[in-house]
Amino acid sequence: MLKMKSQCESCSGKLEHRSDAYICSYECTFCSPCTESMDHICPNCDGELVKRPARVRSVIDVATTQIKRKVFGK
Ligand SMILES: [Zn+2]
Ligand SMILES: [Zn+2]
Repeated sequence: MLKMKSQCESCSGKLEHRSDAYICSYECTFCSPCTESMDHICPNCDGELVKRPARVRSVIDVATTQIKRKVFGK
């Protein structure tokens, strides 16, 4: 599961789970102004930075749904 880092690795600004954040494939995490200024390239690994999907439900909530889907199908 994706780790939801709560801090920009460049400016140490706070990142909320629902706010815009950008990650590379190694899960380096940056806020949107820093990502813009770096041209969407991760300074750690030179990888592309893409928008992190927002997490709107709690981990427990999703785990319960996953189990239900496995047990009951669909
Ligand atoms: Zn930043
Ligand atoms: Zn990276």
